[in-house]
Amino acid sequence: MTSYKELGLVNTREMFKKAVAGGYAIPAFNFNTMEQMQAIVQAAVETKSPVIMQVSKGARAYANGTILRYMAQGAVEYAKELGCPNPQIALHLDHGDSFEICKECIDNGFSSVMFDGSALPYEENIAITKKVVEYAHAHDVTVEAELGVLAGVEDEVSSAVSHYTRPEEVEDFSKRSGCDSLAISIGTSHGAYKFTPEQCTRDPKTGKLVPPPLAFDILHEIEKRIPGFPIVLHGSSSVPQDEVDTINQFGGKLPDAVGIPEEQLREASKSAVCKINIDSDSRLAMTAAIRKYLAENPGHFDPRQYLKPARENMKKMYIHKIVDVLGSNGKL
Ligand SMILES: [Zn+2]
Repeated sequence: MTSYKELGLVNTREMFKKAVAGGYAIPAFNFNTMEQMQAIVQAAVETKSPVIMQVSKGARAYANGTILRYMAQGAVEYAKELGCPNPQIALHLDHGDSFEICKECIDNGFSSVMFDGSALPYEENIAITKKVVEYAHAHDVTVEAELGVLAGVEDEVSSAVSHYTRPEEVEDFSKRSGCDSLAISIGTSHGAYKFTPEQCTRDPKTGKLVPPPLAFDILHEIEKRIPGFPIVLHGSSSVPQDEVDTINQFGGKLPDAVGIPEEQLREASKSAVCKINIDSDSRLAMTAAIRKYLAENPGHFDPRQYLKPARENMKKMYIHKIVDVLGSNGKL
């Protein structure tokens, strides 16, 4: 048993309280590699932002859960080395799909876990979330739950259709499950292809897809029913078109990749939305930089040569999200 406190990590309770009161959101960045971890920490330290580093099932399969846990511990020490004496870094399990995996992560130093029972019947979702909450709270670990289904494909979650969270359920669900935060479905979506062309309109000037707007009416209705309760948005990458263009320009093929417009995420950050999950944008930033570098330097083969600009590009993207979209800069 390793407590996250021994590793210098923090849970999300204080972060969320301040974020809801202050009208900003905490960035939750997924990580799988050392370069992502370094870029996240550099961005958080430079902007003086709290940050959630999250680990999906796919990340555990790729990098190994134990390695990722030590990387998070390394992230805390790295932040200190970069001149941040008290970094606010949470290590979060993204989309835990059983009590057992949540428990395993809590026992191994995670400070926050998600139990995603959104595909289960309502009562079953409450029952397992409650069981996770009881175990987690005994170790001062915070728990995110989910109501409503997001469309899209991520490492471990895939759904062809979405259904919006029903505002009439959120009060009962949050009270009875005891969760600390709630992921809701209001039109965000997992992956780099969040919407089909049929769901979008097309900008006549650029020919790019314009996605349907988020359901702010549902968000406001939820806020009214559970005032001040921390709300989480998954699937909130913006799929920056300059990165998509770079990828396509240098041999990639990502036609019609489309995300959530950043203005809408900025708007959501001002509400009770206090955690915004971003994964695909980091993948795009990394891939765009690597494709460009290798195309321009065909004779290079040292991974450090192309991973360095990849790391720089991810860092730039993380800083942009923190400062221009979520507003969590200067909140340490
Ligand atoms: Zn998700």
